[in-house]
Amino acid sequence: MTPAATVMQRCDVLSACTEEPGKITRPFASGAMRRAHQYVREWMSEAGMTVTRDNIGNLRGRYQGAGKGTLLLGSHLDSVRDAGKYDGPLGVMVAITAVQRLRDADKRLPFAIEVLAFADEEGLRFGSTYLGSRAFSGAFDAAELTRTDSDGISMAEAIRRFGGDPARIAGDRWVGGPLLGYLEVHIEQGPVLEQLGLPVGVVSAIAGQDRYDLTFTGEAGHAGTVPMRLRRDALVAASAFVQRVHDYATSHEGLVATVGRMTVEPGAANVIPGKVTLSLDVRHADDAERKRARATLLDGANAIAEKRSERAAVACSPRLTSQLAQAIEGEKVQLVSGAGHDGVYVSELTEIAMLFVRCKGGISHNPAESVTDADVAVALDVLGRFLELL
Ligand SMILES: [Zn+2]
Repeated sequence: MTPAATVMQRCDVLSACTEEPGKITRPFASGAMRRAHQYVREWMSEAGMTVTRDNIGNLRGRYQGAGKGTLLLGSHLDSVRDAGKYDGPLGVMVAITAVQRLRDADKRLPFAIEVLAFADEEGLRFGSTYLGSRAFSGAFDAAELTRTDSDGISMAEAIRRFGGDPARIAGDRWVGGPLLGYLEVHIEQGPVLEQLGLPVGVVSAIAGQDRYDLTFTGEAGHAGTVPMRLRRDALVAASAFVQRVHDYATSHEGLVATVGRMTVEPGAANVIPGKVTLSLDVRHADDAERKRARATLLDGANAIAEKRSERAAVACSPRLTSQLAQAIEGEKVQLVSGAGHDGVYVSELTEIAMLFVRCKGGISHNPAESVTDADVAVALDVLGRFLELL
């Protein structure tokens, strides 16, 4: 079997590790994750790695090198509900296979490689993302431990049942000496590579993100009796805002902005909308551009805005990124990741880089997620050359 075929087959095997038969749903610290770990442990060992699991539930495989430094490779093993096979697992499988190739060639690099299979990136079970990489980076907040899942089980209890000690998560932080960087291979989750006809692309940055809730207040009234010119229709104001968000982002390069949720009150066919609440999500690779967009959009809205979250953009390492580009044969393209990744937190420890792999139709977080053997083979070759260059 070719290395790429091995990666594909292993993604198939992991897809059967699920909490919902017929679907791929693999939450943090679940039975499905436990079964996935059994496989991944075995594959890591086969590739010559020493395998450990930390308290939050990250699986770590270490392939010793001749020198002191360590290069981190990885991605996450958890999934959203009814997920595809590749968002997360692909990066872990490609990393393990790259190490397997070194082992098969009986090769030691001047640095060690540590493959990280993160425990939770999507946050399906506890609504709290990046648990794995936050613990690894020393950014885990113990207050999270009291969160409960839909069955009322606390995060602390879930961690204990999975074999970890919640009191010792601070000890999951990387203490293994100097780091050379972190590289994650991930499906693109967008259509750009497919449109360009390219198998892989280098990520230049992970976009920063703002999330707001906006409330538009008007006056509810009878749909039949209040004359049009006397109305204060909250939905009409909200609709104008939605259009403005779309137009503004369309006319600003690199900006994406979305209203994805809206609630209309009272919400009856014969009542003029009195109140509308909606969500606003704004992302850009440049924080200054994002803040400018946010200010303009919120100023122009006749609404009360409440901030939900803000995350700064994370630039990928120019050094690692240029080596990654060098490792690509043929046309090289740089992309911004609109989606967040574990690298956001790992960047607090070391420089990060990401390689995107083309996915069919740009579809992710969906069972229709699809990548080809040939593209995975390219990603493996790029990773192999990148290790040589490093
Ligand atoms: Zn992912």
